[in-house]
Amino acid sequence: MREPTIFELSSPGRTGVTFPVSDVPKFDLPDDALLRKELPIPELAEVDVVRHYTHLSHYNYSVDEGFYPLGSCTMKYNPKINEDTCRLPGFLFTHPLQPIETIQGNLALMFEMQEWLKEISGFAAVTLQPAAGAHGEFTGVLMMRAYHKARGDSKRIKMLIPDAAHGTNPASAGMLGMEVVTIPSDADGNVDLTALKAACDDRVVGMMLTNPNTLGLFDQHIVDVVKLVHDCGGLMYGDGANLNALLGIVRPGDLGFDVMHFNLHKTFAVPHGGGGPGSGPVGVSKRLADFLPAPLICIQEEADEENPPLYGYETPKQTIGRMKAFHGHFGAIVRSYTYIAMHGPDGLKAISQYAVLNANYLMARLKKYYRVPFDRICMHEFVMEGRFEGTDIRALDISKRLMDYKFHPPTNYFPLIVHEALMIEPTETENKQTLDSFTDALIAIAGEAQTNPDIIKTAPHTTPFGRMDEVKAARELVLCCWLPENLPD
Ligand SMILES: *Cc1c(COP(=O)(O)O)cnc(C)c1O
Repeated sequence: MREPTIFELSSPGRTGVTFPVSDVPKFDLPDDALLRKELPIPELAEVDVVRHYTHLSHYNYSVDEGFYPLGSCTMKYNPKINEDTCRLPGFLFTHPLQPIETIQGNLALMFEMQEWLKEISGFAAVTLQPAAGAHGEFTGVLMMRAYHKARGDSKRIKMLIPDAAHGTNPASAGMLGMEVVTIPSDADGNVDLTALKAACDDRVVGMMLTNPNTLGLFDQHIVDVVKLVHDCGGLMYGDGANLNALLGIVRPGDLGFDVMHFNLHKTFAVPHGGGGPGSGPVGVSKRLADFLPAPLICIQEEADEENPPLYGYETPKQTIGRMKAFHGHFGAIVRSYTYIAMHGPDGLKAISQYAVLNANYLMARLKKYYRVPFDRICMHEFVMEGRFEGTDIRALDISKRLMDYKFHPPTNYFPLIVHEALMIEPTETENKQTLDSFTDALIAIAGEAQTNPDIIKTAPHTTPFGRMDEVKAARELVLCCWLPENLPD
């Protein structure tokens, strides 16, 4: 049975607000100024509205409710103190166009955040502007192009991208008119060095590499990869969406990367995935620093004995321009600032150590039941195959069945180079009991595959709605599903 819509709950005359008596003359709008003849507005009391939406929200699944092993998305628990700090009145009720003297606290926080991200990543400079990971990639690739252009090197058009890459990498390069050259992975899940060597020439803009890659594997030849690309005049782009394996352990800047985006909403604990806007700062090596978007936050006047420093704005000499209104998603930056301040250097390192330990624990328990195509120590995530010899069960079926066991499914069918891929990222915030119940569920499903495959093929059985036609849902999206003409019977 479907839920009543907010319109069906409406009752004429019921209201949730009381307006003050009007003290201005009533005036009818001219007919030709009206956009539509009628505008149905549901009439309900506050309590009806709260119950309706709270009830609907219980159909949802969130990281505050349970384990969310969605590989590559880093659905870690987001500490609630981040929500307190970003709502402090001094952050909440300021405007970016205020005179800098009146927003020194905000500027100091952003300046320090730039410095901390530099220290964490080993880069020379950082912009906080980009709105999310893909936007950070676009920003980074724009700077790579500007760098070659400024040197008068205009024939570079090829972007090298491994076959394991996140789809946003080829999309970002493609949006800038570059020719994407796919580099295969070798049998160990590293970049195939022979193929890379063959692709390196004087038409290469650079390479976009995720390390650890989306198989959760750290490239064992990373130094050679960076050298090959640099030797042909290209730049190294690091996809740092997910730094959960590297914090306090490896700095991409030290490895020779020239530019990288961070996803504050993944590694640095900002709610995402329907939970709010992300933030995709970009770090660069010295040779790209002049091309960063403007403005950056700087110290305009050094501190002296009586005064703290005065923070202000600066414009890099060959800037690619502005990438985002004002300073990006400031609220997300405050949350991540809190997270970094709260953990400190040792805490950040522990985050990565636990993230890697948790992923390896899951992999070690599960690989007796599921095929793990690249069987070596993984980093923050790993990929296994969601299929069983002699059955027609697919990764999608396993994911649907997991919902009956009250777990969010892992990432399905990505990366593309693994058959029936299930990509699992536990993150550091899960305890052993949770990891054990999750593996117990997957082991139980592996058993069901032999004894009762139908229960997997027809899952989920315990959710408010059964299995959806996902293709139809994506192709025939009904955005106004609450309108009477769109309602199912
Ligand atoms: C999430 C992710 C991105 C894209 O980040 P968005 O913030 O979703 O745009 C890019 N690369 C990798 C490896 C990712 O995991």
